[in-house]
Amino acid sequence: MATTDTIFQHGTLGLLVPGLFDGTITAKELLTHGDNGIGTLNGLDGEVIILDGHAYQAREDGQVSEIGPDESLPFASVHFQKPDVSAPLSQLSQAAFEEKVVADYRLTNVFAAIRIDGTFSYVKTRVAPRQQPPYKTLVEATATQPEFEGHAVQGSIIGYYAPHLFQGATVGGFHLHFLSADHQLGGHLLGFDIDQATLKVQHFANFKVHLPIDNEAYLQERFDNAAIDSAINKAER
Ligand SMILES: [Zn+2]
Repeated sequence: MATTDTIFQHGTLGLLVPGLFDGTITAKELLTHGDNGIGTLNGLDGEVIILDGHAYQAREDGQVSEIGPDESLPFASVHFQKPDVSAPLSQLSQAAFEEKVVADYRLTNVFAAIRIDGTFSYVKTRVAPRQQPPYKTLVEATATQPEFEGHAVQGSIIGYYAPHLFQGATVGGFHLHFLSADHQLGGHLLGFDIDQATLKVQHFANFKVHLPIDNEAYLQERFDNAAIDSAINKAER
């Protein structure tokens, strides 16, 4: 039976920092661990948005398509959706939203999934550009990346809040992706203003990390925690 009290994460955000971009889990396997979530594809090829059992890729050319079962991902987080909070939101900036949600739903020290469906007066996303081996570092790979904007867009925000203690294993704080209802705009969320929407929050007692222990590059890497923290703040915010 599907467990709804656990985030399943494949890989770590930290492994992307030195450029370990090879896909190490298939989309098919990932979707057995959750029906909503976020990630990136093999070669850091775009941004992954998983909604209601369907995984989508937003590419650097601005196109969005559904991901095939055999495509692979170096990093992804998923969960089975069963929100414990559902609340209407209207006329809220990103900053006001983040402050309100952390306070109202006591997120500071917990893992939570955030999903917001509705109309956004403004959305700004970015999409990581596809890399070829030998891979550059995450900061180099994302130094120039396309950004996309929309006004009066209908769509869904999906992602997570994680305690700052877990920065490196994942992104400490909010990590949100967006997909418009017409699939014309997607990516890693850089900014948004909510017009009218429904917020769903799901708190998790469990954070499960699944590591690519058969991947030679992963086994050989010597991670530098300070570099990882700085790179996540540069590349993921
Ligand atoms: Zn992201």
